[in-house]
Amino acid sequence: MRFGTKAIHAGQRPDPTTGAIMTPIYCTSTYVQEYPAVVKDGYDYSRGKNPTRTALQDNLAALEGGRHGLAFSSGLASIHALLSTLSPGDRVVCGNDLYGGTFRLFRRVFAPYGLSFDIVDTTDLAATERALSTPCRLLWLETPTNPMLRVTDLAAVAALGHRAGAIVACDNTFASPFLQQPLALGCDVVMHSVTKYLGGHSDVVLGALVLNDDALAERLAFLQLAIGAVPGPMDCFLVLRGTKTLHIRMERHCSNARAVAQHLVKHPRVARVFYPGLPEHPGHAVAKKQMRDFGGMLSFVLKGSVEDGMRFTSKTRVFSLAESLGGVESLIEHPPSMTHASIPAEQRRAAGLEDGLIRLSVGVEDIEDLIEDLDQAFKAT
Ligand SMILES: *Cc1c(COP(=O)(O)O)cnc(C)c1O
Repeated sequence: MRFGTKAIHAGQRPDPTTGAIMTPIYCTSTYVQEYPAVVKDGYDYSRGKNPTRTALQDNLAALEGGRHGLAFSSGLASIHALLSTLSPGDRVVCGNDLYGGTFRLFRRVFAPYGLSFDIVDTTDLAATERALSTPCRLLWLETPTNPMLRVTDLAAVAALGHRAGAIVACDNTFASPFLQQPLALGCDVVMHSVTKYLGGHSDVVLGALVLNDDALAERLAFLQLAIGAVPGPMDCFLVLRGTKTLHIRMERHCSNARAVAQHLVKHPRVARVFYPGLPEHPGHAVAKKQMRDFGGMLSFVLKGSVEDGMRFTSKTRVFSLAESLGGVESLIEHPPSMTHASIPAEQRRAAGLEDGLIRLSVGVEDIEDLIEDLDQAFKAT
């Protein structure tokens, strides 16, 4: 099956009792047994297994081309589960431009438990090779990154990670499996904030891991049960509804973002635009090699002061000023004071995140309305 057909059908079959075409929302905490400890298909308690969640997990695994899918109550809960497979003293190498909440989980939750984290610019192969010249248990990648849209060569860096003995994991939230499939490029684990493009409608918080290794999948399923950060059946249903249109939405996100990037690049009030689809973007060639298209996210900096940029984000009418991304509606935000405020200012600046940066999640509205909205915001700022 091809991607769009899998998006609609994978993991789902008509309900055996009624033929209902949509997967039922199995709102149940427990399952009746005929005899003590005689359990049908592993269904004994919903923290361990729930049929709506099973359908979603199988659907997400199919979309990433992996054997095992595991759903969690948020993207961060899925990262927490993966990090919980490590032991105190283990070394993790991670990229230098990560989602702010990922950094916070590493530094403030897992570092005090005895994991060590070394940060490297994974878009720089020589620096990454140096960082991986000492053994490491986990290499954590994100590409394209949030919010700078930096692009890491997954095939090249995964090979370096394996030589260092690491499990290689990639946060694929910005690309979605429609645009990029890290397992096929050599990564071992794919992580998603399903909250974003996979859900696609800004109505659910959920996370997932997809992988091929049977033993690691079994360990993660144990941690999913033992830690218990699982999504409810309603949330799983909402994502199953969302993934059915993932391929169609992503095509429009990409074409709209490309048009917005091209408009901003030419705009006299704009100093810099960060979008991997622009030929001058430093990650353009790698993105072209490993992604189907360049995605719906972009960042830019206005000429003038930081305050001008912040004022601009309050003047748009179609773009809503809000955190998060990947929904059908366009969003605008100011990462230094919003999504990335949890990263110390010096570290933000060292990673190239300017104080005036504005991030857009370009939705699937009519492109003329998006361009007109940005233009009226320039006039009003
Ligand atoms: C939002 C986000 C996360 C965290 O996911 P939650 O679902 O909010 O817990 C992780 N990585 C990236 C790139 C994100 O955008």
